[in-house]
Amino acid sequence: MPDHSLTIGNVELVSLTDGGMGPPPTDVFPDSTMDAWKSDFPDLLDADGNIRLRIGSLAVRSSGKLIIVDTGMQFPDSSGTMLTDMAEKGVDREAVNLVVTTHLHPDHVGWNLTNGEPTFPNARYLMPKSDWDYWTQPDVLAEAAHIQEQVMPLQGLNIADLMEDDYRITDDLTTVSTPGHTPGHISIVIVSNGERGFILGDVAHSPAQAHQTDWNAGFDMDGETARKTRHATFDQLEADGSLVASGHYPAPGFGRFVRDAGRRIWQGV
Ligand SMILES: [Zn+2]
Repeated sequence: MPDHSLTIGNVELVSLTDGGMGPPPTDVFPDSTMDAWKSDFPDLLDADGNIRLRIGSLAVRSSGKLIIVDTGMQFPDSSGTMLTDMAEKGVDREAVNLVVTTHLHPDHVGWNLTNGEPTFPNARYLMPKSDWDYWTQPDVLAEAAHIQEQVMPLQGLNIADLMEDDYRITDDLTTVSTPGHTPGHISIVIVSNGERGFILGDVAHSPAQAHQTDWNAGFDMDGETARKTRHATFDQLEADGSLVASGHYPAPGFGRFVRDAGRRIWQGV
């Protein structure tokens, strides 16, 4: 199997990448220090001392449905690579049944529409109701161009559905509320044929947080809740051995949280 895909029971995940950024780690994680990065996570730094923040998505095949989880950033002039990456990996955008958004940040809704038309013409678009309720407040919406451009039109086209907590996407996929990064942030639990998986969303942005679990990203909207959610989620994933998929971790972003010499690490697969 190519390393961009992973099977969990009867569910297949295909890792997709829209692009990335290379910021200084302390810009992304204000709680961290450059010394800690250099001593503990030198493998995550490039030659200039920057980290790679991938903008990733997933295609998921489950119960006869083709599902896209998050739609990248698109980047200026539609220069994001998500659609070409999909095509190269054999994922047909016209065959997509559902688009599930973990949260309504710009790097997760970027390809919802292309030039005002749904990028996935035969899909319904699912998003967390609590995030929708937050971003559609008039004063918030007025400042959020990405919601105006990439989210609101879906409602006008009557192809948007709001997910309440513990939403059953298919028999094998259920959402779980993981708030903090945004008010309505969700992750997705996979239980299939005796195997467990977890689509992390933005509970974390770097493998370094496996150990430095208190480090918040600067864009975690409610830092205290984000930290609590990250601890609880990682503890659970370490205990149950789930295979985890992360869109912001280095490609393909598949791995497990495991204990190694007394500390928790991200072990890529
Ligand atoms: Zn993100």
